[in-house]
Amino acid sequence: MFIGHFAVGFAAKKFAPKSSLAVLLAAPLFLDILWPIFLVLGWEHVRIFPGITRYNDLDLYDFPWSHSLLMSIIWATVFALIYDRLTHYRPGVIAVWIGVVSHWVLDFVSHRPDMPLYPGGGPHLGLGLWNSVPATMIVEIAMLAIGVYLYASCTRAKDRVGTYAFVSYVVVLLLLYISDRFDSGTPPTVSAILWCGIIAEIVLLGWPWWFDKHREAVFQPVS
Ligand SMILES: [Zn+2]
Repeated sequence: MFIGHFAVGFAAKKFAPKSSLAVLLAAPLFLDILWPIFLVLGWEHVRIFPGITRYNDLDLYDFPWSHSLLMSIIWATVFALIYDRLTHYRPGVIAVWIGVVSHWVLDFVSHRPDMPLYPGGGPHLGLGLWNSVPATMIVEIAMLAIGVYLYASCTRAKDRVGTYAFVSYVVVLLLLYISDRFDSGTPPTVSAILWCGIIAEIVLLGWPWWFDKHREAVFQPVS
């Protein structure tokens, strides 16, 4: 799952309006932020297997440290504790905890049965939404639409950056998502996945950090 994770971050703004959108997005993306790092470190492994699912050519046979249910709960708790230390903002703490764990749940829905419950064995689960390209795209685009709607309805632009940088970000996410379907058909290399992933994460989190500061919450929560 790709833009479905962004949808969760956008939607979270409604429940934690004082949290930066960048943090609210980093939480549901967190397991995928760890994943390329763990691949580089050699703790996890992936191989290209064309056609393993209709949607995605990756054979994710070994990624329990970033993508098991148990580790997602541990990462969520670490992320939430650090965020609590820094902000003492309860709705934000809850939103980031749920956000990190939501990644496992959404990947469980989309992946073939390759999602571990805990490191070191055990069953691997997955409902296989990726076996259908149209279903995957309908679900993810609908999720993003709902998430962006919630974000747009609970914040308003303070200036032009708040409008145009926000709108262009959503457009770029959609273009990245759709263009991914029309690539050359040659499977990517593992190192290309790594570096694209790392660069994309920096850009895709820095950008919302910037435009979110140019927007304000519509309803200030009672404190
Ligand atoms: Zn993932």
